[in-house]
Amino acid sequence: MKSKTEQFKKEARRALTSGNMQLAISRASKRFSQLRRQAFAHLPEGEDLRTRAQAIKAEAVERQEEYLEQFAAAAEKLGARVHRSPDGADACRYIEDLARTSGVRMVVKGKSMTTEEIGLNGALEQAGFQVWETDLGEFIIQLAGEPPSHIIAPALHKTQQEIADLFVEKLGVPLYEDPQKLTMVAREFLREKYFQAGLGISGANFALAETGTIVILENEGNARFSTTFPRIHVAVVGLEKVIPGLSELRVFLKLLARSATGQKMSTYVSLISGPGRKNEVDGPEELHIILLDNGRARFRQDAELRTSLYCLRCGACLNVCPVYQRIGGHAYGWVYSGPIGSAMTPQFLGTLRAKDLPLASTLCGACAEVCPVRIPLPDLLLTLRRRIVEAKGHSGWERSLIKGWAACQSSPGCYRIALELARLGKDFVPGLLPPGIELPDKNFHRLWQDEYQD
Ligand code: SF4
Repeated sequence: MKSKTEQFKKEARRALTSGNMQLAISRASKRFSQLRRQAFAHLPEGEDLRTRAQAIKAEAVERQEEYLEQFAAAAEKLGARVHRSPDGADACRYIEDLARTSGVRMVVKGKSMTTEEIGLNGALEQAGFQVWETDLGEFIIQLAGEPPSHIIAPALHKTQQEIADLFVEKLGVPLYEDPQKLTMVAREFLREKYFQAGLGISGANFALAETGTIVILENEGNARFSTTFPRIHVAVVGLEKVIPGLSELRVFLKLLARSATGQKMSTYVSLISGPGRKNEVDGPEELHIILLDNGRARFRQDAELRTSLYCLRCGACLNVCPVYQRIGGHAYGWVYSGPIGSAMTPQFLGTLRAKDLPLASTLCGACAEVCPVRIPLPDLLLTLRRRIVEAKGHSGWERSLIKGWAACQSSPGCYRIALELARLGKDFVPGLLPPGIELPDKNFHRLWQDEYQD
């Protein structure tokens, strides 16, 4: 069966015809971008911090094994149990076994793209556990039975009305139009789950090698609740999350929230060092940290693509991407969307299996301009495009098309004739132009002539 990633074009076309979704995505991503711009305008050292952040990540990825060993030793000294998982299946199995042997029936989760990546919810549900997402956006898409459409705002594609209708259908509450009321409905529903759950699961934004601490940034307080209230806390942490220590963390704390939502700082910054201690009022009895590889060690060996491991999952590149703004996250067919998704999904799933994603870019460079760790996203996409061609070659008609296009582009007369033909042809051949592409009645040359040469 074809994966959704293989059906990218079909999914993208579908998204382009959904006016509601386009409006919701475009509004939200433009708002996030505007807030980011304002936040950086008030941070004169912002560009220096980005350069420093990139250097920290480069060094951390280079010395990853050393830092991971240091992290694991420090975390175990504090009483945490650290497990290295080579892949998602192993991580899911570890958590299932732990839940089963601990007599857990219900699990609450803070938002975590890494657990989305390994399909943890599905695995736990199949094994008979009840799982509840506690981040509001994640809770909404869980009720809708959908995957996230944005790294930091998973339900960004949904309008307020759609959420109100969903709550009526799934939670049996009256139709509320006020967003605050809708939030209170979710809050009340989830509050009792924290008390019932025996296991809380989170991801982590950073793992500090020198102290064995995991760091979680969030705005709703749900991750803190999920990690402190249940008896057991499991953190699923990608290998690339390890950084040297607290002084490096300071750099990322200044950049991450600003890049994501334009906030100076996330509302809650939790530094978790070991399980709860005697005499502490909260904190779990057991803390398990799963250091997840799932392909990351292989990406690290790839000199051309390893910078993708620097990603902080801030979502800034999605918000400025003209392709993401038109088609939203679901069209990308897997967990990670937007420019970073187009660069990472082929590495996770295989270059040819996700071959349409690196092609779905204008290479405008807006993503690289906002990335807090200066990942050269257009370069990564070009590398992947080259590898796709190397792997599958060009078909005969592609070669002819490229030759024809090159000839046409090098002759102004030919280029104009081609445009005129496309303009005339679009009325007679439906689907001649890709959805969303329009040819104005007058092109730039014609406007120029009319304005200056008459
Ligand atoms: S690639 Fe950069 S901008 Fe995009 S999510 Fe990752 S850190 Fe943020």
